[in-house]
Formats: sequence, C-alpha cells, structure tokens
Amino acid sequence: MPSPRYFLKHFVPFTGYPYTGSPTACNLCGSPHSVTVAETDRRLKVLKSVACTDCGLIRTDPMPTPDELSEYYATAYRADYQLAFAGGPPRHHLNRSAREAAFRADLLAPKLVPGARLLDFGSGSGEFLAAARSRGVEAIGVEPGRDYANFARAQHGVEVLDDAGEGRFPDGHFDVISSHHVFEHLRNPADVMERLARWLKPDGIIYAAVPNMAATGKPPHERFHFAHVHGFVRETFDLMARRAGLVPHTDYQREDTTVVYRKTDAPPVRLTNPGLADRLVSELRPMNPGIYLASGAWIWPALRRNAKAVRDGLARR
Ligand SMILES: [Zn+2]
Repeated sequence: MPSPRYFLKHFVPFTGYPYTGSPTACNLCGSPHSVTVAETDRRLKVLKSVACTDCGLIRTDPMPTPDELSEYYATAYRADYQLAFAGGPPRHHLNRSAREAAFRADLLAPKLVPGARLLDFGSGSGEFLAAARSRGVEAIGVEPGRDYANFARAQHGVEVLDDAGEGRFPDGHFDVISSHHVFEHLRNPADVMERLARWLKPDGIIYAAVPNMAATGKPPHERFHFAHVHGFVRETFDLMARRAGLVPHTDYQREDTTVVYRKTDAPPVRLTNPGLADRLVSELRPMNPGIYLASGAWIWPALRRNAKAVRDGLARR
C-alpha cells in the first residue's frame, strides 16, 4: 500500500510528482535534443514536457521509469483520473466506451467480417472486442489493467491477455489491429507501433487513436498529465506510423489523430519535422498559473469530473 504521503503528493498543486525518472532520447527519431513546452500539468502540478527538436514528438522529461509508472497506475491513476474506486469501471466510463466501440466497429466494418482476426491492443473494459465478436470476428485483447481485463472477461466473455511482448504472435497474423488511446501512455510508442505492424497481414489495417496535443479549445496545460508520457500531433503520429512502414489508408475517414493505417512498400523517410518543435512551443504556451487560478477557468473541468462521480455513486445504489 502506498503511504498517505505518496497519495497526497499526487494531488497538491505547484509541487512535483513523487518520482525520479531518467532523461531519455526521443523514442521516434533517437535525437537527444529537445525544447521545453510545458512546466505544469492539468492539476497545476510541476511536470516538465519537452518536444524533440528534430521530429517534434512530445515526452515527459525526465521520463518515469517502468517501475515508477507501474506504481503510479497501481495507486493514484484510477483515483485521480477515472474516479474508479471499488466495484469495477465507473458507469460514465462504460457509457463512453460503448459509444466509442460502436463508432470504431462501424468505421472498420469492411474488415470486420466473419473469420477475420482482430487484436485490440489496450482493450480496456472489452466493449470493442464484444462488438467485433458479434460480427463473427476472432477477437483477442491485450490489457495490462487487471481490473479492466477481468471485467471484460466476466462481462463480455472475451479473451484478454495481460501483456503481449515481441514474440507473442507470428508475423502477418492479424487482419485488423486497433489501439485506442494507448500510445500516449507508453514509454516506447514507436517500438510498439513497429511490433504491431509486424503482426499485421500485408493487406491488414491498423486503427490508431491518440489525443491531439495541439487541439484547440483547451488551456494548454489541460493537455498534460502524468499518465501521458508521450504527446502527439498529426505530423508526429503519421511519422511514427511511417517509421513502422504504415501510411494513412485513404479508404477510411480520418479524424485528426484518429487514423486507419495500411502497410506501404515505399522506402523509409527521414524522421524529421523541421520547425515543428518551435511551432509547438508557441501553440502550447502556458497561461500564467496565477491568472488561470484567478480566472476560475479551472472550476468547470473540476465540477464536471465531480458531477460524473456523484452520478455514478447514485446510479450504483
Ligand atoms: Zn524525435
């Protein structure tokens, strides 16, 4: 059990998180050069994010170690961001997840045919696996969050693995691979994208979605939080896919950083996005924390989060 002090440290503004981490090179292009884009996260806690000067991929600096991330997920994460205490995934999560699964199943419908093989990498509470299986697809999930994986197995009767390392599946095995809001949580997203691409059949498709860090309509620091150790925009997400031999599939509607990719035989490209880091520095320029606090703009996100928790609490009774 974490100490109350460890727990508190995740909530007190203007202080850092209880982790040491270590500096890392860019996981996409390997460059050690970076420029700072943020010093604070959505809780107004101290958290430094940098953009790679060469390719523009955003990462937490220093990067939490695997053990530090595990400890964080095991303790503060769910209480902090999902308000899932005892009793499985909260209702608002399940509702949103069911809507998203239906959208994804419709988008990928041409490939979700009887007998097709699907991997849902980061399958959460299992709604998309269930939707795919109802179309006759052989669906398997990977989900390291134990409670969510157990919920998916019990509620939907789907097959879910705790993890899937390098040799877990043969090359060219799957017709469809999907990954919904997973890469931003990974310390090595570019390596994982390459692994998924290897598991894909030559004519297979990969659905991949992450938050767009440069999306408009939010104060910049609202986009940063400890669980997201990497941050993407369209250019860096596509470049990461390109490194893995993937390009956007023009038969499928793209929505910003929600993309369906296919394999390409085109030769490798240079892993650079000239000028992108500078653009991100200006687009993500923070609001002064004092002004932000005084403006009261933080009240609404906080109220929304609490309202969801109250609704879920009432719905359970
Ligand atoms: Zn880079």
